[in-house]
This record gives sequence, C-alpha cells and structure tokens, in this order.
Amino acid sequence: MAQKWYPVIDYVECVECGICIKKCPHGVYDTSKAPSPVVKYPESCIDHCHGCGNLCPVDAITYVGDDMGWAPPKGNTESAEVCCSCGNNEKSDKKVLVEYLYLDIQTCDRCIGTDSVLDEAMMVLTPALKLAGYEIEYNKIEIKTEELARKYQFLSSPTIQVNGKDVCQSVAENSCGCCSEISGTDVDCRVFEYKGETYEVPPKEMLAEAILQTVFGAAESGCTCGEYRLPKNLKTFFDGKNTKKSNKCSCGGDCC
Ligand code: SF4
Ligand code: SF4
Repeated sequence: MAQKWYPVIDYVECVECGICIKKCPHGVYDTSKAPSPVVKYPESCIDHCHGCGNLCPVDAITYVGDDMGWAPPKGNTESAEVCCSCGNNEKSDKKVLVEYLYLDIQTCDRCIGTDSVLDEAMMVLTPALKLAGYEIEYNKIEIKTEELARKYQFLSSPTIQVNGKDVCQSVAENSCGCCSEISGTDVDCRVFEYKGETYEVPPKEMLAEAILQTVFGAAESGCTCGEYRLPKNLKTFFDGKNTKKSNKCSCGGDCC
C-alpha cells in the first residue's frame, strides 16, 4: 500500500478510453465512473507501479511521489508492464519469469548455496517448460537497497519468485552469521522447510516442486503486494550496512 504514490489524471489530455480503470488490478479507480478515470482509493496504489501510466495512450497519467525519471511510453502495450511485480496482471500465462532475489552472493553461504541449487533446478526445468510451450526468463537480482526490497516485495533472503510470487508459502528464518557480519548487526535469513526438515540451502527437489507448483497454479496464489511492509529484520540489515559503509576508513578499506 503506497503512502505517497498514486496516479494523477490530466483530464485535458484524457480521452476516456477506460484502459487505466480496466487494467489496474488493485482497485485504485472508481469503476462506477468508468470510462472516466477517478482515483478513488489512492492508498491501494502500489509504490513505484507505473502500470496504468504505461498503458495510457495519451500520456495523461503521472504519479504523486515519482522521482524515478519515468516517462510514459504512450500506450506501448508491447513493452509495458501492466502492474507491479505481483504477477496479478494479464501477462501471457505461457510466460514464466523466475527471479532469484538475494542480499549477498559474495560471502553469504546460504545465498551462494541456494543460487547454485536453483541453477541446477533451472537447467532441468527450462528445457521441459520450453518443450511445453512456455517462454522462460531467469534473472538474479541483488537486493541492495530498501527501495529494491519494496519493489520486489522482498520478505526474506534468499527468495525465489515465479511471476512475482514467492515460491515459499511462508517465511521461516534463523540467525545468519554472514549477513550479520556484512551489516554489523544481528540479522536473520531464510530457512526452507521441506518434508519435516529445515534447510539453510534448499534441496533441488524442493525448489523444482515449488517452482512447478507456482507455474501450474497448485500453490496458493494471489497478489499480496498491497500488504507489503519492509520486514524489520531487513530494515536492520540495510541500516547496518549503510552505517558500516559510512564508517569506512578514508582509504576505502576496512582497516580502521
Ligand atoms: S495500475 Fe498500478 S499505478 Fe496504476 S493505479 Fe493501479 S496500482 Fe496504481
Ligand atoms: S488510460 Fe489515459 S486516456 Fe484512458 S481513461 Fe485512463 S487516463 Fe484517460
């Protein structure tokens, strides 16, 4: 839920096509006024989502709070994202976007381990899904800042998302020595629960099953992005990392 982010309509430019009302999956617009766009629930708009603005054919939508240098693509729906990363949109259901989100892949054992297990799982799943007619995109994203954490609805490190949905149904964590060291404060990271066992690095079988369940809809789905709050644990991590960075010796190293 955005506090200071919502669409503003330029009614001089607006041609009342109604696309923004129809395409917003978060109920920001008053549908009873369609096709005239009336922002009824600005608090439901998703922080940094440009979904409706990307689709507006006449560039009539801007956003309160927008400092990203975003420019409307004049209704170029080919490249436009309909909404945020929640996956609750109308993208082709034959497209599978797998995203690996992590805090640190240089020193954190569980991020490094999960990365390698996910690579192995994707090596097997990708050709099988392609054979079934799916288009696969696989990205790895370091969540360096709070802004990125919000953008990706990041709840815990590491996270695997399929079409914007976390493949894990819940978050379980324990203390992570590596990320605590990076941030200079006590930080918890994700553990994976599977068949009665708890793993800091998930088994390949678990990831393959979770990804396939998410793709084929057996796992619980639904957009949760409207409810996102940066977890306190992650806030602690980013604050600690920033403090450590600003306390660095003028030589640029960690000598002092
Ligand atoms: S499409 Fe995105 S930006 Fe537009 S109103 Fe809905 S949530 Fe907000
Ligand atoms: S998409 Fe643009 S032109 Fe169409 S109703 Fe919304 S603001 Fe108006």
